Amino acid sequence: MPTDTDHTHFGYQSIPSDLKTERVASVFRSVAHRYDVMNDLMSFGLHRLWKRLAVAQCEVRPKDWILDLAGGTGDLSSHFAKQIGTEGKVVLADINEAMLQKGRTRLLNQGITQSIVFIQANAESIPFQNNSFDRIAIAFGLRNVTHKEQALQEMARVLKPGGKLLILEFSELRSETLSALYNTYSFSVLPKLGKWICQDADSYRYLAESIRMHPNQEALKTMMQAAGFERVEYQNLHAGIVAIHTGYKF
Ligand code: SAM
Repeated sequence: MPTDTDHTHFGYQSIPSDLKTERVASVFRSVAHRYDVMNDLMSFGLHRLWKRLAVAQCEVRPKDWILDLAGGTGDLSSHFAKQIGTEGKVVLADINEAMLQKGRTRLLNQGITQSIVFIQANAESIPFQNNSFDRIAIAFGLRNVTHKEQALQEMARVLKPGGKLLILEFSELRSETLSALYNTYSFSVLPKLGKWICQDADSYRYLAESIRMHPNQEALKTMMQAAGFERVEYQNLHAGIVAIHTGYKF
């Protein structure tokens, strides 16, 4: 969250807000080529389970129009594309060309072509008309967005009345027993893994720091309500390492 009107957090650093998007972009440009293998390694494969649970909670129906925002290499889109039938559409939107390129290739290799479109877009300014989507999902993306309130307002704008928003994101660990282990893992092991696999320790240090700076479960719930979402709820997974927030537009 911004520390004042001109500055925001980039991990533990306070930087001018207008520099954050480019700093985040350089993180994902740097890790795009090994992003998927790193996700498997650093989460011990758990990200696949978290994403499957998130997709199930989206309650997608045939013919739905779905926005996979900050969709990256397309894990969620791949599930959605199999659920929408021939008349639905998945829009995978991401700000980063390198991540989009990876996603496009992966989904093409899975034979997913007709039902999906890829667009380069900033979550703070979604290039669609009001009331365009039945479902919006953003997985591990909101944490990286500079103006989160603005992005949430944009999601509310492009969601159809009756539509559902789902946010899957790292959150606040709710276990004192696990906290020392989790901190050691985040700040000592992750950067080493990043250096080994991606030749980039800094991006994974940013990951650990950005998780600590992200609004916790209750704060994000309040932000969603302030953006106009109703029936906002969250579910902690693995003691709050990640949380799934859902809300509706009425
Ligand atoms: N959703 C994918 C997943 O769960 O594997 C990718 C998550 S990855 C950790 C975060 C993604 O957010 C990156 O692909 C990055 O380019 C994208 N991103 C960061 N800031 C963004 C913004 N302002 N608007 C849209 N996408 C953004």
